[in-house]
Amino acid sequence: MEQDIIAAIATAWGEAAISIVKVSGKGSRDLVDSIFRGKRPLKDSPPRFMCHGYVVNQNGEQIDEVLAVWFEAPRSYTGEEVSEIHCHGGTLVAHLCLEELLKRGARLAEPGEFTKRAFLNGRIDLTQAESIIGIIRARSEEALRAATRNLAGSFSKEIRHLYDEMLNFSVLLEANLDFPEEDIPPLTEEDAISGLLSLKDKAVPLLDRARKGNLLREGIRVALVGRPNVGKSSLLNAFLNESRAIVTAIPGTTRDIIEEVLTHKGVPLRLVDTAGIRKPSDEVEAIGVEKAKKTLHESDVLLWVIDGNEALHQEDLDVAEALKNKRHIVVINKADLPLVVTEKDISKILPESKIHIISASTNRGIEELKDSIVELFVENGDVNEGLNTTARQLEELRISILNIDMALKALKNNMGEDVSAACLAEARKCLERILGLEADEALLDAIFSSFCIGK
Ligand code: GDP
Repeated sequence: MEQDIIAAIATAWGEAAISIVKVSGKGSRDLVDSIFRGKRPLKDSPPRFMCHGYVVNQNGEQIDEVLAVWFEAPRSYTGEEVSEIHCHGGTLVAHLCLEELLKRGARLAEPGEFTKRAFLNGRIDLTQAESIIGIIRARSEEALRAATRNLAGSFSKEIRHLYDEMLNFSVLLEANLDFPEEDIPPLTEEDAISGLLSLKDKAVPLLDRARKGNLLREGIRVALVGRPNVGKSSLLNAFLNESRAIVTAIPGTTRDIIEEVLTHKGVPLRLVDTAGIRKPSDEVEAIGVEKAKKTLHESDVLLWVIDGNEALHQEDLDVAEALKNKRHIVVINKADLPLVVTEKDISKILPESKIHIISASTNRGIEELKDSIVELFVENGDVNEGLNTTARQLEELRISILNIDMALKALKNNMGEDVSAACLAEARKCLERILGLEADEALLDAIFSSFCIGK
């Protein structure tokens, strides 16, 4: 398939020593040559050889002193002919270079299009492609490690193993169904059950590791809730160890949502301070309260902050009511002052809750609180064994396991082997979608559009 030439700035925005403009597609080398003035054009240089020169605009004026290089198809990132211009840092000159290329016929790459082409040209498989999003987004070193591990294909390798085993087993099951009179070794119900259980035993730990990996990348969304003036902003600052949120003694001043990311034991904690659950008194605050509600809904864990120095208000009890059935930790703050709220008081309202006594002013108990948050999500083992996955892959694997469970149930309840086989086929399809074996156009677009441009 003839592809047009795409171009984008491949390096991150902002200050940097260099910026790279990347061009992919047949003819990209000659296109770069049209704006590159070196000792000799790229077409007279071997591939992968850095050439010094200048980029010029249509009037022949020099835009920047650069290095340029080209890669011969298929030995490039995308598998196509690729050229790069390494200009000076800052985005201005890179933009000027990019503009010149666009004027001369290149098209601005869509988000993830370079990686999409790499996938379509068979350079990488779908899980590797997705792990590249992981690397771009990795918020902590451990997440980066998990993502790199996945780029080497470890998640796809394990899914592939599971898939092959599932396929073999499906073949056995279906053969028994479709050709009972043929000379096929019969599959007893016990064999079938133990076969399914063995698949499940392999899939469940994989899901666990995938969850950990996903956690490393996406982080834990922690929302601080509580009535005004209990110390939510102060706690946020204590977590971050610097004064970013404005702390005041006037209730209801944290009007908007602040999200800050810190890393604890390698896990990114995405802290969200909300305007609190309370009746809004003006319009600006109403927006804050709306956002707060949405944030609460999207958080992984809620920290209910209480002013330990004051008896519980009705407003506190309202918050407590909202916490029931949600994953939360109770934080009794202001422990540097005499405490009037005790752990016992809280246990009466929320009997199962984890309770921490802290002081946002003196930093007492902050480290333990962070530990506690991470422990909620990493119950067993080491986060480092996490496999980097995207939410989509995680969901497919989870549904695949659900389908194995349904296949088991069908057998145990004598609903027939054909029902069981159909469930297993569904389970298999989930894995096919993870591996990109059945990737349809819509799925591909959904995956690649979540990339940033230039990758
Ligand atoms: P928010 O409305 O829940 O965000 O509460 P703030 O963080 O703005 O704090 C309200 C008031 O309580 C401020 O005057 C803080 O200085 C004070 N405060 C917060 N945490 C502590 C604490 O641990 N000890 C003491 N003594 N005062 C605190």
